Amino acid sequence: MIGSGFGGAMAAWELVAAGLRVAMVERGGWVERGPQNWAGEGAFVRTPAYAPDSAFRVLQGRRWAEQNLCTCVGGPSVYYGGSSFRFRQGDFDPAPEIVGGSGAAWPLGYDALEPYYTQAERLLGVAGAAGSDPTEPPRSAPYPYPPSPLAAPSRRIEAAARSLGLHPFPIPLAINYAAETGCRRCTTCDAFACAIGAKNDIATRLVPELVSRGMQLFTDTLAVRLVAEGDRIAAVDCRGRASGEALVLRAESFVLAAGALATPHLLLASGLERMNPAGHAVGRYLMRHCNAMTYGLFARNPNPGNEHHKQLAIHDFYFGVDEKDAPPGKLGNMQQVMGPPAAMLEVGLPRPIARMATPLVEHMTGLLSIAEDQPRAENGVRIDPGAVDRFGLPRMSVTSLYSPRDLAARAALIRRAKKILRRAGAWGTATWKVSTFSHAVGTVRMGDDERTAPLDPDCRFRGVENLYVTDGSCFPTSAGVNPSLTIAANALRVGRRMAARASPAHAEAAG
Ligand SMILES: Cc1cc2nc3c(=O)[nH]c(=O)nc-3n(C[C@H](O)[C@H](O)[C@H](O)COP(=O)(O)OP(=O)(O)OC[C@H]3O[C@@H](n4cnc5c(N)ncnc54)[C@H](O)[C@@H]3O)c2cc1C
Ligand code: SF4
Repeated sequence: MIGSGFGGAMAAWELVAAGLRVAMVERGGWVERGPQNWAGEGAFVRTPAYAPDSAFRVLQGRRWAEQNLCTCVGGPSVYYGGSSFRFRQGDFDPAPEIVGGSGAAWPLGYDALEPYYTQAERLLGVAGAAGSDPTEPPRSAPYPYPPSPLAAPSRRIEAAARSLGLHPFPIPLAINYAAETGCRRCTTCDAFACAIGAKNDIATRLVPELVSRGMQLFTDTLAVRLVAEGDRIAAVDCRGRASGEALVLRAESFVLAAGALATPHLLLASGLERMNPAGHAVGRYLMRHCNAMTYGLFARNPNPGNEHHKQLAIHDFYFGVDEKDAPPGKLGNMQQVMGPPAAMLEVGLPRPIARMATPLVEHMTGLLSIAEDQPRAENGVRIDPGAVDRFGLPRMSVTSLYSPRDLAARAALIRRAKKILRRAGAWGTATWKVSTFSHAVGTVRMGDDERTAPLDPDCRFRGVENLYVTDGSCFPTSAGVNPSLTIAANALRVGRRMAARASPAHAEAAG
């Protein structure tokens, strides 16, 4: 098992439950929990988890920039916002205006994933309100927990949206609101680790339990090569992150879940695309949503109680709007986003400007627009075998250019976000276009067609008997909601099928 994020830990959950012996290698270490998580230095881009030793080059727009991977036990879930959406039924049957010439097609429908969504919501203790989302797919069980009461800024957004004829509803959140251990409703949640473990991330909810049930976890250890013998993987070569010491792990089956950038990086570094009939697609079709945060500036602090208020989402525009200013077809999700903590300003702006802007932050609250982006062959991960890092991994570069449709969908959502914020009383608005890869998916997609999809419908890497990919890389399209719950549900599905193959008794127990 390579990677301890959503895809790795959820697949491991099923394998360990079936009594199989599992070893997991994770590039990062445990994130320490304490008050420092909520201080400026706790913003994830300022922590050691945003690891300079994983730096890669990115071409976005006309410029090359540098970014790092988020590496730690639990992966970026430790720093995530907890939004836990199921894909809509229609997301599994994407329209031609999204698919374009990419050949992307899901090999499974919503019904196949529904039981695993229910299981993932239970494992992550998701708090939500069934029946409140106008585009919600059918569900076989209610949410495990009810949502928290709305904070002042959320009530304001709710009233404004309703007065415009919209239908805001509670974001399903993987947050523990139970009174004794629970959430303190702070504003440093998204992009920060939770100091008290009330955010139900993978490092809090799954990994310790997996270890206590016998899973062997190697932290601060990188996989650097998958070694093939014939049509099987025989071993994975690893390096200690600090010591550089070599470790070779052998197993019956291997699960690659290093995230949608690091997974194709490892496959290409190992030359495995040459064994796959759709090898040309390995590393391509990268998507990351076309996101923007639009902030409203209010005369008075809209959040005098300084409360957590990433609480409401709006799906009235999800499947599109019949209006001239929007492209035909799906647009995506809109959800609340809290004003950027002052610490984050210092990351994005020169320090004197950040200091001047800090008082303004208290007068801001916002809406995040998540536009579905198109899978396109030109976007993806490449390696430069001539330049290797100190671990022996070839240098990775990433190309990510939005299509005119991606940009038009985002612009249409931004205009609607501004309208809601103005109706809520904002004097003015400012928009920040997101350039990170926090929602990266799609680089080793699954599908029925062996000419276009490197993974088969069970997420087995074609051409190699015993290699599976269970992270966000496997998505054929990105849909218009945050990806983690779907990564989790699919990894549980694949883990269950792997376990059934390894142990027929588990297949019977699993039905
Ligand atoms: C600030 C932030 C907020 C977010 N908020 C939300 C949200 O509210 N809702 C939502 O659905 N999504 C959210 N996301 C996105 C979500 O976290 C990702 O979609 C999800 O974590 C991806 O899961 P994964 O299994 O594909 O890979 P990851 O979770 O990225 O896991 C990959 C793991 O592999 C490890 N790894 C990498 N390379 C190697 C190697 N060579 N050897 C060993 N280990 C390796 C990494 O360290 C990592 O732990 C957010 C992300 C960020 C950064
Ligand atoms: S809002 Fe709750 S879950 Fe999020 S960091 Fe604060 S205490 Fe933790």
